[in-house]
Amino acid sequence: MPVCYIAFGSNVGDRLAYILKALELLKEYGKIEKVSTIYESKPWGVEEQAPFLNGVFEFTTELDPIRLLFVLKDLEKRVGRKPRQRWGPREIDLDILLYENHIVMLSFLRVPHLYLTDRDFFLFPLLEIAPNLIHPITKAPLSEKAQSLENRLKPFACLLPP
Ligand code: AMP
Repeated sequence: MPVCYIAFGSNVGDRLAYILKALELLKEYGKIEKVSTIYESKPWGVEEQAPFLNGVFEFTTELDPIRLLFVLKDLEKRVGRKPRQRWGPREIDLDILLYENHIVMLSFLRVPHLYLTDRDFFLFPLLEIAPNLIHPITKAPLSEKAQSLENRLKPFACLLPP
């Protein structure tokens, strides 16, 4: 079954509860194989907002990347995400970081995620659960990118293995 890596984030209300609800609902669509440590991180983009909880999980699913995106967007609503400004506060955010070694370049979907190697809250949790990944476009080990990226993440919680 195809393996993908999905990032989650929340900075509104009971952040951990939103994340746990999302992970629970995702079981309808595939299998959560691994979950990284959940980290607290400073907001990125719009900085005057509450700190986020972030992490990454490994997911096996029969959904193709586009269907997976639609499922994630629908699931964000089911978890309780309310529409707000871009890069603003959110109850839950789910982003596809990698899908096998596929490259998707559509107006509404970029895989690998456009900011995969720019955001510490994507790259470090990803490498924690999959240290040997290669970037599908540059073919460079993702671990090389981590050497030049500042890690501002604070460990917040560890979930029991799924
Ligand atoms: P966000 O504000 O983070 O929920 O994302 C806004 C939009 O980014 C989504 O509605 C998607 O259409 C688009 N997008 C592009 N690439 C991705 C990706 N790899 N994962 C999730 N969303 C993506």
